[in-house]
Amino acid sequence: MADCDLCSVSIPTVVPIRVFVPRFKNSYPEGIWKGLCEPCLKAAKETADKMTASSCGTAGKCDLCGAIAQLQPVQISRPSFSKGEEEDTAMLCKNCLVAVQEADKSWQKEKEKEQQEHH
Ligand SMILES: [Zn+2]
Ligand SMILES: [Zn+2]
Repeated sequence: MADCDLCSVSIPTVVPIRVFVPRFKNSYPEGIWKGLCEPCLKAAKETADKMTASSCGTAGKCDLCGAIAQLQPVQISRPSFSKGEEEDTAMLCKNCLVAVQEADKSWQKEKEKEQQEHH
């Protein structure tokens, strides 16, 4: 089992996404791997697709890489014991949103490959 790094849901497979953590820049110059569940990936990608050069965002700490940056809101739902799930907003920096778009591309490709192999 793996945990989604945004909503912390436990699922068998998360979508791998490579982010650059400023704090680990020296020990991990290539970035580190995080994992998102598909709903979070989709929500983050929607935000990334809507993002334009002029969207300035809100200053704060990125929920994925911990960078202090301009952040864009991503609507997610967290698992909640009382309500099943709970709407929440994750804040991601532009670097992570770009990483999400990349991760989504390769994930879709993986899925296509898998489907073809099963036919
Ligand atoms: Zn998630
Ligand atoms: Zn980030």
